[in-house]
Amino acid sequence: MADSYDLIVIGGGSGGLACAQRAAEYGARVALVEAARLGGTCVNVGCVPKKVMWNAAEIAHAIHDGPEYGFDVVLEGHDWSLLKQKRDAYVRRLNEIYERNLEKRGVTLVRGFARFATPRRVHIGEHVLTAPHIVVATGGRPLLPDVPGAELGITSDGFFELEARPQRVAVVGSGYVAVELSGIFAALGSSVTLLIRGERVLKSFDVMLGETATEHLREQGVELLTNSWPASLERTSSGELELETRDGRRLGPFDCVLWAIGRGPCVDGLGLEHAGVRLDAYGYIETDKYQATSVEGIYAIGDVTGRAPLTPVAIAAGRRLSDRLFGGQADRHLDYENVPTVIFGHPPIGTVGLTEAAARDLHGDEAVHVYTSEFVPMYHALTTRKPRARMKLVTVGPEERIVGVHVIGEGADEMLQGFAVAVRMGATKRDFDDTVAIHPTSAEELVTMRQRTR
Ligand SMILES: Cc1cc2nc3c(=O)[nH]c(=O)nc-3n(C[C@H](O)[C@H](O)[C@H](O)COP(=O)(O)OP(=O)(O)OC[C@H]3O[C@@H](n4cnc5c(N)ncnc54)[C@H](O)[C@@H]3O)c2cc1C
Repeated sequence: MADSYDLIVIGGGSGGLACAQRAAEYGARVALVEAARLGGTCVNVGCVPKKVMWNAAEIAHAIHDGPEYGFDVVLEGHDWSLLKQKRDAYVRRLNEIYERNLEKRGVTLVRGFARFATPRRVHIGEHVLTAPHIVVATGGRPLLPDVPGAELGITSDGFFELEARPQRVAVVGSGYVAVELSGIFAALGSSVTLLIRGERVLKSFDVMLGETATEHLREQGVELLTNSWPASLERTSSGELELETRDGRRLGPFDCVLWAIGRGPCVDGLGLEHAGVRLDAYGYIETDKYQATSVEGIYAIGDVTGRAPLTPVAIAAGRRLSDRLFGGQADRHLDYENVPTVIFGHPPIGTVGLTEAAARDLHGDEAVHVYTSEFVPMYHALTTRKPRARMKLVTVGPEERIVGVHVIGEGADEMLQGFAVAVRMGATKRDFDDTVAIHPTSAEELVTMRQRTR
């Protein structure tokens, strides 16, 4: 006998929880299946514990700067294990809150690993569920490189299990996870070697951000090895790790090697073939603008779709899908344009809209004008370290509509949300110019920019 619902959601992460709860608010009978801890990647091994570690790293930088502001402080060490205990306790509290929220809204939580038997039936071991609507929100997982010894390294998941801070760390990768975790290790006292395939980190972001982030990592003492491809990882007889590169360099010894080379979709064992759901060339579930898959009644949201893998995106897609299916809003869907995002480096990076290169490709060189600003934030007027802040506005057309805002520098993380609203509303450079600045801040630079390049 199958238990029958209006909606089955597979995966209790950011997207799945949001979708299930919104549907239940409309009165739908909802079952949510979760194989591990509620909250998914973001709460357990992503945004949340990462931000705690970023906060700790920011405090380390502030203590370092303290004497230059007259404080009698010396950074004499850091208790990683205490921080981990407190962080884990916080995450456990969140897991419980999520469970109570489901209860409150009447969503049935089914613990276990879900597998499609047919397009309308899902098995969790012996337990069978059936519904006319099924949402796949199974998220993603970190990838290991295909090199001998890869299993000796850890991924971002393993980072959050570390009971003690490794002293000598190699991070392999150039995306935002590599940048964020390298910055945390370095600030808390590890010596970090970062291996990247090209010349700069954050290749998919505006060049200005990638170049400046690379400069900042070097200033923080991270040893950057450019044009470096890992070939193998070995444990020596003394228990240390050595990494060999394709061009024959032997690097190390390291206490920890962290792969941050990208993520893939969680679809293994899900039985999508029994439902006939189509995947794209990279193994992500193909969806249209309504999150519908190739099979009627089956939808996918969040990281498993490979589109803008961010928590608020998964949440927004999930809520809109439920608005459409159960809230009578026939055309409700998520617009994936102008999704703002932050990379929690030191200092942080905020970005929304088109990179300069993408704007030029899309609109042509003639139509695109760019404004830039570069300065040492006032906070650093008194400090020895002087990380530069850089900002860029990308505009299009004679009215100079702002299509991209890119910021690296103190406060960028909190600065961008409001500017993302402006970009979404179609603000022009004139609107920015007509906005009175807030002084003294870094953000004021964004409304006082005069230096225009082609
Ligand atoms: C290190 C790191 C830092 C990040 N930092 C940020 C950040 O600062 N800001 C941000 O916006 N995003 C961040 N992200 C990305 C963010 O975590 C993801 O985009 C988000 O969690 C995706 O949500 P989701 O619902 O698609 O999947 P997930 O949150 O991954 O949830 C999927 C859930 O499905 C479950 N599941 C999988 N298969 C099955 C199955 N067959 N049956 C039952 N359950 C199943 C999993 O156990 C999991 O709980 C970060 C990610 C990482 C790795």
